[in-house]
Amino acid sequence: MALIVKKFGGSSVATAEKIMAVARRVLQDQHPGDQIVVVVSAMGDTTDDLIALAKKIAPEPYHYTREVDMLLSTGEQVSIALLAMAFNTLGHPAVSLTGPQAGVISNVVYTKGKIVDITPKRVLEELDKGKIVVVAGFQGINALGDVTTLGRGGSDTSAVAIAGALKADSCEIFTDVDGVYSADPRVVKDARRMKEITYNEMLEMARLGAVVMQPRSVEMGKHFGVPIHVRSTFTQQPGTIIREEYTVEEKEFIIRGVTHDNDVAKIAVLGVPNRPGIAYTIFSALADANIDVDMIVQSIRNSETNVIDMVFTVASSDLSQARTIVEKIARQLEAIGTLVEEDVAKVSVVGAGMFGSPGIAAAMFGALSEAQVNIEVISTSEISISCLIKESQVKEAVNAIHAKFFPTK
Ligand code: ADP
Ligand code: ASP
Ligand code: MG
Repeated sequence: MALIVKKFGGSSVATAEKIMAVARRVLQDQHPGDQIVVVVSAMGDTTDDLIALAKKIAPEPYHYTREVDMLLSTGEQVSIALLAMAFNTLGHPAVSLTGPQAGVISNVVYTKGKIVDITPKRVLEELDKGKIVVVAGFQGINALGDVTTLGRGGSDTSAVAIAGALKADSCEIFTDVDGVYSADPRVVKDARRMKEITYNEMLEMARLGAVVMQPRSVEMGKHFGVPIHVRSTFTQQPGTIIREEYTVEEKEFIIRGVTHDNDVAKIAVLGVPNRPGIAYTIFSALADANIDVDMIVQSIRNSETNVIDMVFTVASSDLSQARTIVEKIARQLEAIGTLVEEDVAKVSVVGAGMFGSPGIAAAMFGALSEAQVNIEVISTSEISISCLIKESQVKEAVNAIHAKFFPTK
């Protein structure tokens, strides 16, 4: 008897027919005695539609984050109810539970809540009654008793965290692609599916834009030691296992993946007086507002005027809030001004073996140069290199870099 957590993303449950198909598939794949928890996202583009709706009422809905969470959490509530009904219609007992009912406890941050604990008493009780338990992804409850959401793509994290808390035998993430590829298969035709990828490489790919897994979910998998199986809702392909170490696959390539992220904006604070504490003042204010800052470049001091420029990137969804904070600080610091660019994107290469291989950076820059793509900012980690470029050139850039590192035989 196995305890299995299966997560189905928005495109897998986009219509009533697809919800029925998911229920059929779960029942077909079930072995006698298996206990099953299904974590589900909102139907299709529901979350985007709800955000668009909120924008009709409040031009900056994210100024009202508690209410945004109250609104967005309704999307998943629709799909859990329908999926539980689908199981019942097919003759199998099932019950739907919201994140709070399933014991998903988050911190008090709205719209980007983090799971701090799972108390799955009710889930276990329902499983013991022989029911399939359908849990709303992307949501939890905080210490104030409010519903929170876990950031875009957060149902992945709900699923892996629940699998960890239940000590499940497996955690399967069903989506509209049949595994993790060496690049987004919608952008790179020749992208290769991987049999396995390590948590660390997947985490870096996810942070750098591979939306197939939310970064937090990979952290959760690593934390609980839960192998994550990414596979297709629509086929029986074997998919990709995310785990600590490679077991079967020969590591043929140093670079495991090429990623891109269009959800990036660049902010520059220009002409800041060059004195201690400037970086602290800017970035602590952003941190206090829970805004993640990514690439950071400080220009060389201008010897005549003794000022510097500070350039950094944030997620596009944080831009409006970040801009308000930074403009205020720029005035306080008597900077010359601020500049915002939204039409930028980040392309990156990821691979744990790249440390100590200086040729990797040169090869990436060479690919971009051949594709006539200008690099605005570069940043590196031990296992990745990222370049900020114009958003309009993302497709050519990713394809050029991929062709360089994964040549077709
Ligand atoms: P779901 O609704 O099931 O959560 P998502 O849209 O969040 O699905 O994630 C699946 C999508 O991730 C795919 O359709 C694909 O375009 C995109 N993606 C980006 N990078 C990769 C990658 N390296 N491998 C696989 N899919 C990727
Ligand atoms: N529905 C949420 C989103 O669109 C969560 C998820 O799909 O994982 O971001
Ligand atoms: Mg997703």
